[in-house]
Amino acid sequence: MMDVETKRSLDFNTTTFTNERRAPEDFPPIANEIRRDIVRALVRAGSGHSGGPLGSADIFAVLYFGGYMRYRSDDMGWSGRDRFVLSAGHMVPVQYATMANAGMYPKSELATLRKYGTRLQGHPGRDMHLPGIETSSGSLGQGISIAIGMAMSDALLDKNDHRVFSLTGDGELQEGSVWEAAMAASHFKLDNFCWIIDNNDCQIDGRVPDVMNVYPIKDKCEAFGFDTIVVDGHDHADLQRGFDLFLANQANKTGRPTCIIARTYMGHGVSFMNDKFEWHGKPPTHDQAVAALEELSAHP
Ligand SMILES: [Mg+2]
Repeated sequence: MMDVETKRSLDFNTTTFTNERRAPEDFPPIANEIRRDIVRALVRAGSGHSGGPLGSADIFAVLYFGGYMRYRSDDMGWSGRDRFVLSAGHMVPVQYATMANAGMYPKSELATLRKYGTRLQGHPGRDMHLPGIETSSGSLGQGISIAIGMAMSDALLDKNDHRVFSLTGDGELQEGSVWEAAMAASHFKLDNFCWIIDNNDCQIDGRVPDVMNVYPIKDKCEAFGFDTIVVDGHDHADLQRGFDLFLANQANKTGRPTCIIARTYMGHGVSFMNDKFEWHGKPPTHDQAVAALEELSAHP
C-alpha cells in the first residue's frame, strides 16, 4: 500500500495491478490511482480532457482489473486477447493511465502525454504502436463501428470466442453512425460484443438534453436489440453486475449483444470538477492538480 506522500506526489510511481476476479472493495484504490495518474499526466501536458477520464475511472478499473477482459500485459500482441475500443477517443487519458497501471508500458511514459512525437497522442493512434491501442479513434461514432466489425469477424469467421468492448460517451449518441453500428450488432447476433455508455449527461457544450436530447437511452438500446442494464458507474459491485450480464450472454450464446449504461458524473473524484461540463476539455493548473491529488489521496 502506498503512503500518503507517494499518493500526493505529482511524480509517477511504479505501482501496478493484476487482472483478476475481485471483491468490490478491492477496486477503489485502483480507480483512485488511475485518477491520480490522469491528473499527473494532464497537468504536465497543459492541454487535454479531464472530465470524462476522471468520471469513467471506475468503469476502467473494473473492466481491466476485474477479470472481464483477457489480456497479457507483457504481450499485447497475444492473439487470444480480448479487444477494447475507446470510441470516445478524447477520453484516452483514462485508457493510457489504466494500461500503464496494468503494466503494459512504464507509468513514467504518462509524462509524455500530448508531447511532440509521443506514443500518447491526444487521441488514440494505432500508428503510434502503443500496446493495447487496437485502433485509432476520436471521430465520434466511428470507434464503435470498428469494434462491432471486430466482434463480427470473430463471431462469423474466426470463432475464437473473443470478447469485444467499446465505450462511447452519451453526447456521442447524437452521431447517426452509432445507431447503424448498433443495428448491425443485433442483426448479426453479436453476444460477444459489450457496449458501455458513459452516461454523465454532459458534453462539451453543455447538458446532453439541452444540446440534443438522446433520452430515453435505455429504451433506444433495447429497441436496437441490446440486452441493456443501467448501473451506477461509480459503484464497483454494480459495474460488476453489468459485466457479469455480458459474460452470461456470451457464455449462454444468447445471440444478444449487451449494453451497460453507466450513470456517472463528469470529473468524479475531484469535487471542484464534479458534474461540471466546463471540465470536458481542459487540464488542471498546477495548483488545481495539487488540490486534486490531495483530495484523491484522502481515499483508499
Ligand atoms: Mg458525456
